[in-house]
Amino acid sequence: MYVKWFKDLNKDSIAVAGGKGSNLGEMFNLGLPVPEGFAVTAQTYKEFIEVTGIKDKIQSYLKDLDMEDTSRLQQSAAAIQKLITSTTIPEDIADEIKDNYELLSADKKTAANLLGGQEVFVAVRSSATAEDLPSASFAGQQATFLNIKGKDNVIKAVRDCWASLFTARAIYYRTKNQFDHSKVLISAIIQRMVNSDQSGIMFTVNPATNDDSQTVIEAIYGLGEMIVGGQISPDLYIVDKKTKDIIHVEIKKKERGLFRNEAGRNEEQDIPREMQERQVVPDSDIKELARLGKKIEEHYGRPQDIEWAVEKGRIYIVQTRAVTTFNKNHEKEKELQETDAKIVLRGETACRGIISGPVRIVLSMDDLSKVQKGDILVATMTTPDYVPAMQRAAAIVTDEGGMTAHAAIVSREMGTPCIVGTEHATKVLKDGQVITVYATKGIVYEGKVAFQEEKKEKAEKVETQTEVKVIMDLPDFAERAASTGADGVGLVRLEIIIANGGIHPAEYIRQDKAHEYIALLKEGIGKIAKAFFPKPVWVRCSDMRSDEYRNLKGGDKEPHETDPMIGWHAIRRLLDEPEILKAEFQAMKELHDEGLTNVGVMLPFIIRVEEVQKAKKIMEELGLKPLKDIEFGIMVETPASCWIIEDLCKEGISFVSFGTNDLTQLTLGIDRNNSRIAPLFDEMHPAVLGEIAKVISVCRKYNVTTSICGQAGSRPEMARFLVQQGVDSISANVDAVDEIRQVVAKAEKKR
Ligand code: PEP
Ligand code: MG
Repeated sequence: MYVKWFKDLNKDSIAVAGGKGSNLGEMFNLGLPVPEGFAVTAQTYKEFIEVTGIKDKIQSYLKDLDMEDTSRLQQSAAAIQKLITSTTIPEDIADEIKDNYELLSADKKTAANLLGGQEVFVAVRSSATAEDLPSASFAGQQATFLNIKGKDNVIKAVRDCWASLFTARAIYYRTKNQFDHSKVLISAIIQRMVNSDQSGIMFTVNPATNDDSQTVIEAIYGLGEMIVGGQISPDLYIVDKKTKDIIHVEIKKKERGLFRNEAGRNEEQDIPREMQERQVVPDSDIKELARLGKKIEEHYGRPQDIEWAVEKGRIYIVQTRAVTTFNKNHEKEKELQETDAKIVLRGETACRGIISGPVRIVLSMDDLSKVQKGDILVATMTTPDYVPAMQRAAAIVTDEGGMTAHAAIVSREMGTPCIVGTEHATKVLKDGQVITVYATKGIVYEGKVAFQEEKKEKAEKVETQTEVKVIMDLPDFAERAASTGADGVGLVRLEIIIANGGIHPAEYIRQDKAHEYIALLKEGIGKIAKAFFPKPVWVRCSDMRSDEYRNLKGGDKEPHETDPMIGWHAIRRLLDEPEILKAEFQAMKELHDEGLTNVGVMLPFIIRVEEVQKAKKIMEELGLKPLKDIEFGIMVETPASCWIIEDLCKEGISFVSFGTNDLTQLTLGIDRNNSRIAPLFDEMHPAVLGEIAKVISVCRKYNVTTSICGQAGSRPEMARFLVQQGVDSISANVDAVDEIRQVVAKAEKKR
């Protein structure tokens, strides 16, 4: 009742077992050999604070807490944590946890040993029910306790996990993001620790050549940390996915390994001489691993990067995540030479590369000016306001965020090495300290580490009938985006150009400075249009939600809305404040006058034909004829626009572009920023695909060009679907253009 084993969990169990727990359940139920374990449910935590009566006390500490009063916040956080860790867990709950730990310890092979078997080492991890919010991953909730053994220690670790819900930072972020503290619950995951005899990494696509017909396996003796840390060279095995044959074996000399000792501590041991140059795992294990890899890849629909381990001859899958950079034309990374440098941090690769430089810690907007060219920007997380400083930075390291966080997206567009989700960067690193960011491996080294530059290799561009374009936000990186050979820009978001200017569009108008706004836009759009000329560049009129740009000058005058996502933004706002729209159109007109006739315009969040009519009228009054002088399109990102697509086509538009981020949000009724329901956010839902298919077929009838500019355009499965439906162009992130082009080429062949 208080715990749920992995077999009873799946990806929809976030409310019970949090993000981590539900993911483990999903893997377990896929039949993968995940180390056994269970979740002490989020509801158990709830009962604990209710039954013991500490819930109200917690609330009273949180009430009226001023988030900017750091020392009081720290004090209250410490008091709440102490309250939780010093409150006895009710006996029935504690007994159930202990009993299940005992079951976990039982040697399943000898039933006699079912109870009272040797206690096993477990990892106890917190798994919050609102984990990994894109806008605020709940820092501090990532508490992990490794090598825990014994019932009482397990109970203690569970309580410590619960307490981690109330670190000062976690409280701060929940408050700032308007999360009700009492609604965010926490589950503790208890999982047997594999004491690896062998371990390694497996990629279901060859990361060196991006050949997706191969599985690449790296293997060492002992625990996997040593591969990740790059301390020893692993064996390399390559398996042909189709024939299942091992087609390449490279055995390296492995002199050391990391092993867990009796006391639960990891220690380095010498590998016996006769084993050093032996293949780490037998062929049969290599084949079995490749089989599991294929299964995982098929389940998740994307190439995977998998951590595996073998204990007493049994294979375990420890973790799996999508391969993020899968790019045939990618510039070969600078590879690190053998190094003894100390690893100070680890995180997720957002943009690959390696670079050294001095640290600049940015904790608030005031710190941004500290960042000089060549510095390493270190921040809790980044927002659009950080972009100017991010552009100066040689590398970026953040505490929070995942692959789709702001820092990740922007760094990829810039090609700036970036590691996200390190949890502690702002604490561990010091201002001015020199570090080496090995983003490709998600590692930060102390000091300057020597590395060798490899020659850049460019693969040939494959030709496709469907155009493959890019999404662009940063004018300074237009040349880089254009060098991908993309067929144009399917979306320029004006918001970053605006954020760089530091003033809210409405403020320019209030101050009677529309000309300054026009100049700013012209400069930014102009750079992109020039870099791509004569290829089309579709610029979206501003779409600023009222909660997102408060830091800009005049941003404080924006209204407070209950739900800004569906509030006063995009075309509805631009028609209420036509001076803003006029200025944006004027900028485009002047660029056309200067010869940049490749600039097209796109209206966001259309729900009515009249909106298109009114916008056209405003443009005509400026002396620019929509459709005739300039490509004039709309975003299809509301279900309403899908329903009335025929009328919109009849009204006259040059093109439509699917904004699948909003279209999915609105069709499925899923807030795109709410991580609790993020697993349900799926652009491939039949309802969304149905809308897209319908719109494409109507548009073809009216000769209206179709395109996509939501994030889903970078998803191979969406690209395949769109090609089948006969879409005219697909826009992807800069780093995904090559991959999508390959996918499109294959899909066209099939069509
Ligand atoms: C979309 O909604 O898919 C889109 C491209 O617009 P944004 O992400 O800026 O809302
Ligand atoms: Mg949108």
